[in-house]
Amino acid sequence: MVIDNIDFPFSYNRPEHTTDSLKKAIVYKLIFLIGRSPQEASQRDWLNATLYAVRDLVTEGWISTARQARADETRRVYYLSMEFLIGRTLSNALIAEGLYDLAKDALSELKVDLEEILEKEVDPGLGNGGLGRLAACFMDSIATLGIPAMGYGIRYEYGMFRQKIEDGRQVEKPDAWLEKGAPWEFMRPSKRFHIRFGGHIYFEGKKCIWNHGEEITALAYDQMIPGYDNDSAATLRLWSAYAGDVFNLQDFNRGDYFRAIENRSSTENVSRVLYPDDSTSAGRELRLRQEYFLVSASLQDILKRHKRTHGTLENLADKVAIHLNDTHPALAIPELMYILVDQEGFSWQHAWDMCRRIFSYTCHTLMSEALETWPVEMMAKILPRHLQIIFEINDHFLDYVRKHVTDEHDFIRRVSLIEEGDYRKVRMGWLSVVGSHKINGVAAIHSDLMVTSTFADFARIYPERFTNVTNGITPRRWIAVANPDLSALFDKYIGKEWRRDLSQLEQLKAHIQKADFKAAIPQIKYANKVRLAEYVKKTLGIELDPNALFDVQVKRIHEYKRQILNVLHIVTRYNEMLANPEKDWTPRVFILAGKAASAYYAAKQTIHLINDVANIINNDERLKGRLKVVFIPNYSVSLAQLIIPAADISEQISLAGTEASGTSNMKFALNGALTLGTLDGANVEILENVGNDHIFIFGNTVEQVEALRRQGYRPFEIYQADEQLRQVVDQITSGYFSPNDPNRYQDLLNNLCYHDYYQAFADYRSYVEAQKAVDVKYQDQAAWVESAIQNIVNMSFFSSDRTIAEYAEKIWKVEPLKLGA
Ligand SMILES: *Cc1c(COP(=O)(O)O)cnc(C)c1O
Repeated sequence: MVIDNIDFPFSYNRPEHTTDSLKKAIVYKLIFLIGRSPQEASQRDWLNATLYAVRDLVTEGWISTARQARADETRRVYYLSMEFLIGRTLSNALIAEGLYDLAKDALSELKVDLEEILEKEVDPGLGNGGLGRLAACFMDSIATLGIPAMGYGIRYEYGMFRQKIEDGRQVEKPDAWLEKGAPWEFMRPSKRFHIRFGGHIYFEGKKCIWNHGEEITALAYDQMIPGYDNDSAATLRLWSAYAGDVFNLQDFNRGDYFRAIENRSSTENVSRVLYPDDSTSAGRELRLRQEYFLVSASLQDILKRHKRTHGTLENLADKVAIHLNDTHPALAIPELMYILVDQEGFSWQHAWDMCRRIFSYTCHTLMSEALETWPVEMMAKILPRHLQIIFEINDHFLDYVRKHVTDEHDFIRRVSLIEEGDYRKVRMGWLSVVGSHKINGVAAIHSDLMVTSTFADFARIYPERFTNVTNGITPRRWIAVANPDLSALFDKYIGKEWRRDLSQLEQLKAHIQKADFKAAIPQIKYANKVRLAEYVKKTLGIELDPNALFDVQVKRIHEYKRQILNVLHIVTRYNEMLANPEKDWTPRVFILAGKAASAYYAAKQTIHLINDVANIINNDERLKGRLKVVFIPNYSVSLAQLIIPAADISEQISLAGTEASGTSNMKFALNGALTLGTLDGANVEILENVGNDHIFIFGNTVEQVEALRRQGYRPFEIYQADEQLRQVVDQITSGYFSPNDPNRYQDLLNNLCYHDYYQAFADYRSYVEAQKAVDVKYQDQAAWVESAIQNIVNMSFFSSDRTIAEYAEKIWKVEPLKLGA
């Protein structure tokens, strides 16, 4: 390897590794980095030794990628996200480096089982669900495509809580993921920035001075994200709060040394824990501090790098694109204004023009309650200068609207960045729109609704800013890592390139009518179901029949996702089976998993109900094992990798108009499950790609949902009119599934009968009918396999590589690096 004309006497280049050399590399790490002999090494020691050995291989490409980006002086993208749900590293890195089989052999010669140690790796839960996982898939695609981009996030000391189920209830346990060490990360002791909070502002003439009250340090930790087989890796930089060299200035100035030291741990709180709530922000001060912490550290780092490369900030907007993953990092907009105007002396107008060319924003929701706002009072206390800047942005913006759009009072009130009222609030969604040149939704239907509902007023002001980029998933993790047998089948017919270019699945179409291909698909599915059944047997003691139809709903527990609709159908089926025990019922296994936000009562009740129902059904001998219900605790990326490839049916049953895109729907279909879904989010585009015959669509459309709302929706009337529904509801209400606590579900059912905001009752009948169609199709195995195949081969559009290529072209205006040039 040659760097800056220095010829290094070694190279870790992949092709040079043999089983023997890899074996030596692992043992070397074990002895000299971990300090253990092979004789006394634990499974975890072997895992870490292997991680370090593989990390060396990725590092070389990582360093050269960074050098390439610097040398090209290219425009760069910075992806700001409060969450990155990256999953386990080792298996993905082994596949990226083409070393999986070699590592397996090398370890087996050392009497170590690769698959066993892979299971020992911690799965960092630095995200809640879809949004964080999307950011992780994006980093993977950025690395594989060689896009000059970097991710910025927070290195939470405690990630998403571990979910336990005790007596059917969710119990949260802290996730101290760093306790076992983090062998994949690089600490960057020299990358530290001061983050300031509080204090007050005053003016010297026209110049605003912020006299902050406290200061903490942000320390960088880098994670390498390996690209697939391209000797390249992207960087994910995570910030950790550190109070080591700065103290509360007031205490320190007062000479209160001990008080200042004491405060250390409270300042370090800022990166202590991930907020376990995935859509409604709690409006808590610590969360606002976290958001600012991410933004301030990242922007200081970005500007420092830019100055080092270009020597000036004049060309900042040509060379830097900053992407806001939801509104969580929206403070980046006033922060950049603060730096440019207060610190760098740019005029307001000049700085604002740069801002608007630099920022872009992805909206992830339609539900207005999920749009972030911050009380003006709180922001005044924590970020007084930034609040002042937001007011000023608002003044300029409203002037523009009055002049160029309308001065209608109500319109101005609606689009103001400040919500007026007893408690004034800053609207972060509006701020993100005003400060960005492009705003995208995450599925076609979502982007359409965005401009007719949430952002309708803004679409009138800035029609050219709104666009769509449909989400995607990485085929590396969701096929190559999660479904090795299916990967081997692809390889056999079309070679290995599909990992880098999923459109190659088109070429599979020439083979899908061959008998051995057709035979392989159900065999692979069966093996994956056996694998999942073994896990369920081992962890929950429940016996599952891999010949049964596996019907799966795994995702955060939320009313809009309607796990309750799933439960209503399960109980309906139970009743029907008991009424007609002799009918040839297709054996079914219902699998559910997902975490509930810790303060979300309805979601927690749903989990309890699923477990109560499971308990009665699984122990009812009359069913002869033909119906089982399992709630798998602690849903995570690693569990998703186990569960999704084993699914026959993918439940995507949110109320139309509520799920922005969904991404598990894509993972399932790509792994050969048939979607049972509403016309919501990316389900609509999955339907377009796989065709009507290979998907089960049910339920009201967005238009019908809205009409029902306008008319006055009365769920109680549906309850009265539908005999089966009435029976199910009455059973649950009367305590059939909770005999020791018969009133347990009164609130839940009352809410459904009289409010049912997410219209579960309205879609119940259509859902039950669709489930019957599923049974019928499963009886015809040949037709089922054909549909599974049509799902697999028609999913190439949903690769996150396609998504990232679209962002690069339409929004960020960047080109891939010329890797290896
Ligand atoms: C893909 C994924 C999600 C998103 O699931 P949706 O069904 O799209 O909400 C959430 N959590 C994990 C762990 C995932 O892998």
